[in-house]
Amino acid sequence: MCGIIGYTGRKKAAPIILDGLKRLEYRGYDSAGIALLTRREDLGLRREDYGFQVVKQKGRLAALEENPKTAKLEGFTGIGHTRWATHGEPSDINSHPHLGGSNRVAIVHNGIIENYKQLKAKLESKGARFVSQTDSEVIAQLAEHYYSGDLIDALIKTFNALQGSFALGVMCVDNPDIIIAVRKDNPLIIGVSEHGNFIASDVPAVLNHTNKVYYMEDGEIAVINKDEVTFINSDKEVITKPQTTVTWGVDDAEKGGYPHFMLKEITEQPKVLNDTVNITFNEGENKKTIDKIDFLMFNRIVITACGSAYNAGLCGRYVFEKLCRRSVEVELASEFRYKDPIIDEKTLVILVSQSGETADTIAAMREAKARGAATLGIVNVIGSTIAKESALCLFTAAGPEIAVATTKAFSAQLILLYALALKAAANMGRLTEGALLKLEDEIRALPAKAAEILENVDVLQKYSSNCIGYKSVFFIGRNIDYAIAAEGSLKLKEISYIHSEAYAGGELKHGTISLIEDNTLVVTISNNPALHGKIMSNAEQVISRGANVLLLGNCGGARFEDCGNEKITFIKLPCCHELFSPSLSAIALQLFAYYIAANKGLDVDKPRNLAKSVTVE
Ligand code: GLU
Repeated sequence: MCGIIGYTGRKKAAPIILDGLKRLEYRGYDSAGIALLTRREDLGLRREDYGFQVVKQKGRLAALEENPKTAKLEGFTGIGHTRWATHGEPSDINSHPHLGGSNRVAIVHNGIIENYKQLKAKLESKGARFVSQTDSEVIAQLAEHYYSGDLIDALIKTFNALQGSFALGVMCVDNPDIIIAVRKDNPLIIGVSEHGNFIASDVPAVLNHTNKVYYMEDGEIAVINKDEVTFINSDKEVITKPQTTVTWGVDDAEKGGYPHFMLKEITEQPKVLNDTVNITFNEGENKKTIDKIDFLMFNRIVITACGSAYNAGLCGRYVFEKLCRRSVEVELASEFRYKDPIIDEKTLVILVSQSGETADTIAAMREAKARGAATLGIVNVIGSTIAKESALCLFTAAGPEIAVATTKAFSAQLILLYALALKAAANMGRLTEGALLKLEDEIRALPAKAAEILENVDVLQKYSSNCIGYKSVFFIGRNIDYAIAAEGSLKLKEISYIHSEAYAGGELKHGTISLIEDNTLVVTISNNPALHGKIMSNAEQVISRGANVLLLGNCGGARFEDCGNEKITFIKLPCCHELFSPSLSAIALQLFAYYIAANKGLDVDKPRNLAKSVTVE
């Protein structure tokens, strides 16, 4: 993961790089670091007058900002990094930027160098001395090893020697006004502004300065100076790339008065649902894309994703199967890619990823393509790898999502999966025009119902605030409520560090009920009229063993009294079609997790050990 940024221009680089790192911290926060190219003497501009000033340290960006050495950083060209450690513990010395042995080249790296041990041994046998345990240092050492006056030549040789994935920002003391960027399998954008140019892992890092960006592709090299950006290929031929104007504003990437990005993003969901519905069901790019899909061409549908996006896929499967009477598989991308998947040109593989850069999901997409399957991405980031490489792509209109735990992007993914299921069912002749319109109306009604939950948040907030003492929380549901229970459980454990598990209501008694004891909390989700009685029986079973129950949902329209029991707290959610109920349950479950984590005083937006966009395997 990691966030990288570089700036060269007419303004002082340090504050710009620190501000950019703040907006990339969601990508990793084990350590942060910055390197500026600084003129050692004020007089004379001879090459050897330049050197690197480096400040880097373990811990959050705030620690780097408070370091007195940071205040002294001078210079107009620099690179910065926030790390999510893969090789080498989080420590000062393992922090990026890394320098080559004679301090001529500095690099920041996002990715993993798989053959670093071999390269390191080779360089050490030639006298190089490594100071860190990272895989990344080998890049700086190798670049210096190859360097004999032409940095680009040295870097091309370096890239050719590296195996694995990398997005890199590189500086050299002999070229004090330029930064070189290159990517392979990890994201990088180039931002162009009036006062200077940028490299960055993601758009929010540069939004304060520009909305004009280039999305880099694998194998391309960008050379930026304060006035221009040049793209070349590995044969050093100049290439022309289209510039994109990002429509997000800087406010979209700010907290806007909320204590955490997560709460802001939860609160944005009525708008996000509305925007996603608009571009998907009214006139918009998603609608045009969906209109192109002929589901009759496929005899298999596989949804593959990781984390919450996988849980969105689990919900989507119920909707597809119910409406189309066609079985749908949902696979973890990290498993799918290595399982020798049984797919062919009659398979549609749907890839769901907020960033569009999830390493495992990208690999699953490439595996699917190699086997001739049709690929359909669902992503939030327009220029991302999945957006570019999948045959077709749908976009969630969530705007930038900063909190590590996804909320609004997940909700938008659900809308797109519903839309695909509806289209598939219509294609397969399973829905009359009238039934289709009715279901679409149900989906169009979701934003207002989401707003209703958010307007009545007090009870849930109060209840959740009293849950901080639980050691373990179970989530149960049946059918699609079970799928959303999985997301509720993931959300809780990732941000509150409370152990939790999701179970199908009927499954608990086959083992896990042994873990239920006095004062265990069981969050019970009920939105299906046909299964409300069944799930309430499961709730009774855990209550008999001492559990407390939080009942969430519309209970399939059941009356409050029918759900009553002194051990049950019932928080009723607006009524909606059971197939689309995950959209409402999700919001309640996100708030539940959020208020617990916030009341525990945890860093909700940056949970320990996690990072948002998982660009490593
Ligand atoms: N492998 C590098 C390190 O551990 C970068 C990690 C990453 O991009 O997540 O420092």
